[in-house]
Amino acid sequence: MRIELPENVNKIIHQLQANGFEAYAVGGCVRDSLLGRIPQDWDITTSATPEQVKSLFARTIDTGIEHGTVTVMLDHTGYEVTTYRIDGEYEDARHPKEVTFTGNLIEDLKRRDFTINAMAYNDEQGLVDAFSGIEDLEDQVIRCVGNPLDRFGEDALRMLRAVRFAAQLGFSIEEETRAGITALAGTIQKVSAERIQVELVKLLVSAHPEELRTAWELGLTAVFLPEFDEMMKTPQNTKHHMYPVGEHTLKALQEIPRDKVLRLTMLFHDVAKPICRTTDEAGCDHFRGHPEKGVDMTKDILRRLKFDNDTIHKVCVLVRYHDDRPPITPVKIRQAVSRIGLENFPQLFLVKRADTLAQSLYEREAKLAYIEDYRRLYEEILEKGWCVRKQDMAINGKDLIALGMAPGKELGEELDRLFTHVLAVPEHNTKEKLLQLAHK
Ligand code: ATP
Ligand code: MG
Repeated sequence: MRIELPENVNKIIHQLQANGFEAYAVGGCVRDSLLGRIPQDWDITTSATPEQVKSLFARTIDTGIEHGTVTVMLDHTGYEVTTYRIDGEYEDARHPKEVTFTGNLIEDLKRRDFTINAMAYNDEQGLVDAFSGIEDLEDQVIRCVGNPLDRFGEDALRMLRAVRFAAQLGFSIEEETRAGITALAGTIQKVSAERIQVELVKLLVSAHPEELRTAWELGLTAVFLPEFDEMMKTPQNTKHHMYPVGEHTLKALQEIPRDKVLRLTMLFHDVAKPICRTTDEAGCDHFRGHPEKGVDMTKDILRRLKFDNDTIHKVCVLVRYHDDRPPITPVKIRQAVSRIGLENFPQLFLVKRADTLAQSLYEREAKLAYIEDYRRLYEEILEKGWCVRKQDMAINGKDLIALGMAPGKELGEELDRLFTHVLAVPEHNTKEKLLQLAHK
C-alpha cells in the first residue's frame, strides 16, 4: 500500500531517519489518504524526543512540549511532530495524569481512539496497521482500539468522536463500541463544553448531520443537549408537517449547505416548539411564539456550549426570522430586509427553503414560490442599490443641523421619518429631495 506523502512531510521524516530516529505520518492523514480524501493536516509521530526534534529543524514552535508535540515550520506551513507516547491514567475521564515517552511505535498507536485512526505510514516501512484499521476502513466501521469500556473510561469525549467520524465518513459504529457508549454515555457530562463544541460542529457540518440521531439513540444528547431529546418527543399534528419536531430538524439539517451558522440555525430553529405546543379542539397542534422563545433558548444553549458571540448573534437572527413572512410587495420586502438586516440575506432564504423541504408536501410549491418571489425583490434591492439602512441615506444629522435644526430627540425622529419615506419611495433617496422633504 503506497501513500503519496507531501514533499515537506517526507523531508521531515527523512531528516529524522537520517539522524537515527523512526518517523511516520500518523492518524487522520493516513486514514484520509487511504480513503482518497484530502487530509486537513499532516501529523508525524517519531521516536525522537521533543528536544531532539527541535535540534534537527531550523524553525520550530513549542506547541505542547509536555505532551511531546513540536510544530516544525517549513515554507510557512506547520507540521505537528509528536514523540511516541503512552498516555497515563486519565483523571475524571478528561486529562491524562501524565504522558510517558516510549521508543515503541505500537505503544503509541495503542493509545489512539479508533482502529481507522491508529495507522502509521512512511515510504520505507510502508503501512503499519497493528489493529486491523484497513479492514475496518473497508467494512466502513468505527471500532475502538482495545476494550471500548476502558477507552471511553479514559476519555469520555471519544464517545462523541465516534459519532462524529461516523457522520463525516458515512460509517457505522461497531456493535461493542456502541454498547460501550450506551453504558457510559452519562460520563460525557465530565467533558468540557469547549471540547464538546468542537465535535458537535464537526458532526453538524459533515456529510451526514442526521447522525445526530445516533448521538440521541446512544444517550449522549440527553446529557449535553437535552433540548434535542425534547424535540424528538414532540409530535406535530398539523397539515404542514409529517414528522415530530426532532425528525423534522434532522431532515432540515440535510437540506441546508454545510456551513456552521446555517447548520446550527436548522438545529435550533424549532427548539422552542416543545414548550410552545398547544392542541386545539380539532386536535391540531399550534406552536405560537416559538421563533421568539427559540431565540432565548438558542442563546442559552450556545452560551452553555461556549460558542463565540458572533456565531450566537448570527444564529439567533436566523432563528428569529425563519418563519417571518412579509407580504410580497416591493415596499413590504424593503421594510422586512431593513428590519431583519441586509447582512442576514441571502442566508435567510436558505433557512426558509430547508425548513420547507423538511415539512409535509402540503402547499409545498406555493411555499417555495413565495421564497423565490421574496428573493427576487431582495435582489432588486441590490441591483438598484436601494437604501435599506439608515446609515445609507443620502443625508444625515449634520445635513439637518446645517438646515437649522437643533441636535437632539426631534432631529432623530425627523431622520426616522425620512428613512420610513425612503423605504416607501426609494427614488427619493437623494440629498436634494430629502432636504426638500425635511423643510416641510
Ligand atoms: P480531523 O483532523 O479530520 O478532525 P483526525 O483523526 O486527524 O481528524 P484529530 O482530532 O486531529 O483527528 O486527532 C489526530 C489523531 O490523534 C487521531 O487520528 C487519533 O489517532 C488521535 N486522537 C485524537 N484525539 C484523541 C482522543 N481523544 N483519544 C485518543 N486518540 C485521539
Ligand atoms: Mg487532524
